[in-house]
Amino acid sequence: MGENTKIPMIGMTLSQLKCVVAEFGMPGFSASQIAKWLYEKRVTDIDEMTNLSKANREKLAQKYCVGRYAPSSEMRSVDGTVKYLFTTADDQAVESVYIPDEERATLCISSQKGCKMGCKFCMTGRQGFHGNLTAAEIINQVLSIPESETLTNVVFMGMGEPMDNFDAVLQVLQVMTEKWGFAWSPKRITVSSIGKLDTLRRLLDETNVHVAISVHSPYHEERLNLMPVEKPYPIRDVIKCLRQYDFAHQRRLSVEYIMWNGLNDDDIHAQALVDLLAGTNSRVNLIRFHAIPGVNLRTTDERRMEAFRDYLNKKGVIATIRRSRGEDIFAACGMLAGKVKKSLK
Ligand code: SF4
Repeated sequence: MGENTKIPMIGMTLSQLKCVVAEFGMPGFSASQIAKWLYEKRVTDIDEMTNLSKANREKLAQKYCVGRYAPSSEMRSVDGTVKYLFTTADDQAVESVYIPDEERATLCISSQKGCKMGCKFCMTGRQGFHGNLTAAEIINQVLSIPESETLTNVVFMGMGEPMDNFDAVLQVLQVMTEKWGFAWSPKRITVSSIGKLDTLRRLLDETNVHVAISVHSPYHEERLNLMPVEKPYPIRDVIKCLRQYDFAHQRRLSVEYIMWNGLNDDDIHAQALVDLLAGTNSRVNLIRFHAIPGVNLRTTDERRMEAFRDYLNKKGVIATIRRSRGEDIFAACGMLAGKVKKSLK
């Protein structure tokens, strides 16, 4: 078996690793040892797993590999943000964005190669769908950036709709939060979704991570025009579902709202948003729109954004304007590009 056709072990859960060791007649506890090598000691080669016998390492290495690979290029913003590009085995490019901010160091990761959700304002959406990332490819973004050990938070807000690749995302969340994995608190992780309700319900039930929902308009017709997902899963139904969960204590619900000049930025929209979000204990992030080629939408100006924010705050909805990061390297929200095959440097 060539190195490229071997099965990566990063991204595997403890029970999956138990199946791997059983396959080679190795003792059951070897699965925990391997998990420790992968997720705590973060080795890059099976041969470094020195508490496994040499014979067992050799047997394992015939079929499996650790599966780590470094970013193929990087681009640094003047504000410290770094965009990393990873090239998958099928030669697709996926991006991760490292965002240092005082005591926090956040990595924004991708869950798919492109996206099939077709949101009108999004560069990734416009480039179409080129496949799901595997759990190994998702967790590799966290493990293989140079700042990996210093990360405080991970957000699933890069390329793709995480709820459209639910099984792999759930597996990665297990790796990140279970004792045999990174043992992170779920409070360090935020998963965003445009409201693909079938799997979003499972995320809410099966994990405790923070959730971010992209709303962008409180009105059905208007949102439908921007986001085709509104048709199968109207935002009213999504919010109704979210109301059944507790976001007043450990778990946080944020609402993402990109602001477009003359489209969704007047007081009527602000009031409709207040009404929509009643009883959710959510916080609203108001986001500047970053112009992308071929899209006839313009961002709201600063003063109008502040007025919108103040309106929400006055009505008891906590709202802030999100500081834009990495705009000069096309790393800001909605600007991640899909199939970039050449080096970014
Ligand atoms: Fe996909 Fe998110 Fe872009 Fe919509 S905004 S097309 S869900 S990546």
